[in-house]
Amino acid sequence: MRQLIIAGNWKMHKNIQEALEFLQELRGKLDSTPVEAVVCPPFTALAPVAEALKGSNIALGAQNMHWEKQGAYTGEVSPLMLREIGCKYVILGHSERRQYFGETDESVNKKVKAALEHGLVPIICVGETLDQREAGITEQVVATQTTGALEGLTPGQVAGLVIAYEPVWAIGTGKTASEKDAQQVNRYIRKVIADQYGAAAAEAVRIQYGGSVKPGNARALMSQPDIDGALVGGASLQVDDFVGIIENSL
Ligand code: 13P
Repeated sequence: MRQLIIAGNWKMHKNIQEALEFLQELRGKLDSTPVEAVVCPPFTALAPVAEALKGSNIALGAQNMHWEKQGAYTGEVSPLMLREIGCKYVILGHSERRQYFGETDESVNKKVKAALEHGLVPIICVGETLDQREAGITEQVVATQTTGALEGLTPGQVAGLVIAYEPVWAIGTGKTASEKDAQQVNRYIRKVIADQYGAAAAEAVRIQYGGSVKPGNARALMSQPDIDGALVGGASLQVDDFVGIIENSL
């Protein structure tokens, strides 16, 4: 059985004080959940959030990183730095990074390998744009992104990953993929992985859905057999919504 993983991607929201207030309120509410809850604050709040999460069952994730351990890369943050702070997860290849910051399947692949090498679990984002969906090439797009991100990994490494299927047209728009459509794409991603890395890796890898997930649609989405959690943007910024999504996922 794959443990559900619900991760909050805060994007460029919350200063340190807001982050700490959020966590103080969140902590007691998730003590006995069987869901793996993750928060992914901006870099500036990672260290204080790590401190505030000590002794809780909520994991910490970052939203991006560079693939090198160190070096002359102005403005970048390395996997070692994320480990030092206490991150378990790192979101890689989010569509906003692909769209605005030139992230490619090749750079995502380098980052995935570097994350694994340094003991971080990548949450790899894939998903089609509206144009691509309307052109009927959703499967082609997610297959290319998935195989590109995973190139060179062993089946054992693939088994431990998290993949987030996030249709770009559903992000921040209030439009959610229907549970049937999301299930279909998640199943397809699992098949792509099975074909390349074998059934055991495909059965073990966790595949989230992301894109306008809210307390009201969480149950229908999470009850699908190939949806193993959610990557939540907007609704992860409010404690009640984030907790509501986690509670409704069961
Ligand atoms: P929303 O939940 O705001 O649509 O964002 C989804 C997302 O991009 C999570 O990474």
